[in-house]
Amino acid sequence: MQAISVQQPWAFAIARGGKTVSNQALPTAYRGPILVHASMRVDLTACDSPLIQAAGWDPRDPLAAIGAIIAVADLDAVCSPTGATCDCGPWATPGMHHWHLASVRTLPRPIVALGRPGLWEPKPSLVTEVTAKFARATLNKVT
Ligand SMILES: [Zn+2]
Repeated sequence: MQAISVQQPWAFAIARGGKTVSNQALPTAYRGPILVHASMRVDLTACDSPLIQAAGWDPRDPLAAIGAIIAVADLDAVCSPTGATCDCGPWATPGMHHWHLASVRTLPRPIVALGRPGLWEPKPSLVTEVTAKFARATLNKVT
């Protein structure tokens, strides 16, 4: 399990808004489950962008939290375009590496955690807490 820290409102767009591409400065060889962490910094200018508005950005949503894990996804591909364009869609920023996130699962409630820039390895206790939240959410649905 790995984690990425993403500024709001972009983290929200991954969790709720169908943003399947995360723009990162570096590529990675890692593939697999990844925690989506909303970092403490907010990209204020992005909140008014048409993409974010279309993604249903809502500052009152619990997943608009900062400094917390809000979702889990599968990092299944990384596009590192050599030319000017690629087929990664509207969320992809030119000149960046496009990390493709699939099967996004939102957490029932955010889990407060300290992040780090780029890719980082979450503490085992944090992974356990995330797994427990999902297990409890599934149980609640059954009962
Ligand atoms: Zn791309």
